[in-house]
Amino acid sequence: MDFNLSEISQKAEKQEKHVKVLIIGSGPAGLTAALYAARAELKPVVLTGIELGGQVSLTDKVENYPGFPEGVGGQELGELFQKQAERFGAVIEFDTATSVDLRSRPFTIVAENTVYKADTLIISTGATPVHLVVPGESELTGRGVSYCATCDGWFFKDKDVIVVGGGDTALEEGLFLTRYAKSITVIHRRATLRAGAVLQKRAFSEPKIKFVWNTLLTGILGKDKVEAVRVRHIDTGQEQEIPTAGVFVFIGHNPNTQLFQGQVEIDERGYLKTGVAMTTNVPGVFVAGEVGDPIYRQVVTSAGMGAAAAMQAVKYLEAQEEGIHDYSGAVKDEA
Ligand SMILES: Cc1cc2nc3c(=O)[nH]c(=O)nc-3n(C[C@H](O)[C@H](O)[C@H](O)COP(=O)(O)OP(=O)(O)OC[C@H]3O[C@@H](n4cnc5c(N)ncnc54)[C@H](O)[C@@H]3O)c2cc1C
Repeated sequence: MDFNLSEISQKAEKQEKHVKVLIIGSGPAGLTAALYAARAELKPVVLTGIELGGQVSLTDKVENYPGFPEGVGGQELGELFQKQAERFGAVIEFDTATSVDLRSRPFTIVAENTVYKADTLIISTGATPVHLVVPGESELTGRGVSYCATCDGWFFKDKDVIVVGGGDTALEEGLFLTRYAKSITVIHRRATLRAGAVLQKRAFSEPKIKFVWNTLLTGILGKDKVEAVRVRHIDTGQEQEIPTAGVFVFIGHNPNTQLFQGQVEIDERGYLKTGVAMTTNVPGVFVAGEVGDPIYRQVVTSAGMGAAAAMQAVKYLEAQEEGIHDYSGAVKDEA
């Protein structure tokens, strides 16, 4: 993104800091990257953005992050990640990046309060599930409203649940939910699905799954947890309440990459392009977590990518010190 004039004048007033490793994002990926970079004594700075702890801090309980046999609160897990990174010298800044210039070195990252000059950058801005934006949704998120069947399916053993969506993800996750739920009602606003033919065939032949077509979900009801949804048939306008214990929303997933448009390669779905070495097409800029991961989208995988990205950043800085300026990711010797 190019700087505009107002940003340049704001930039002039802001304090400038030089850092070896700047990490944008304070979710599991960013805070794990911070832990690894801090343990390499690089004093990484993490820009938190508006969601300290990332998406996971929105959920009541995480039961699939190893090391917590009884589960752990989502917010608590984020705080533990932060504490551990800070213990080794990571600096957490409550600030949001507003523009970046990755064409000259050190990289320039303009945040709301400070302008950073960074020798390496780890992008871990995550992704945002598309929300229905209906009454009850935000209030009941983590209390029956979910955006991840792998994360939350287990909580709905022998319960009736709703899936919203008609694409591959909706059907894949709906099929996954058949392991636990008593019934899965897929609510779709059209009369046909966008999902691939094989998935459709599997879903149509699954006795636990039924479909409600041409229907909009207009509200989620419940006091402390989801109890029902309100729906409206698009053609007839008829409204109805359907009792349910859970609402799984799969109507899209937006990686937070707008900031990097035109600066690093982004794929057709909007994710940052990366490989096993967490590199981008810009040497010294690394990717961690959901912002580069359309597949796994878990705390543990995002944290793993954060560790890998930081290890690569360390190696990149070492290569720079040795005068190797085209370092683009370690490939282990085959020996
Ligand atoms: C309700 C819910 C429940 C979930 N439950 C589970 C679960 O039980 N188990 C599980 O494994 N996974 C779960 N997930 C998925 C898991 O939370 C994500 O896979 C994980 O958080 C992704 O980590 P991340 O660090 O890549 O990105 P995110 O968690 O998305 O974090 C992105 C970070 O980037 C920051 N950011 C964005 N833009 C900027 C900017 N411009 N400047 C500075 N910072 C910025 C944000 O503030 C945030 O801190 C759940 C997700 C949701 C939404």
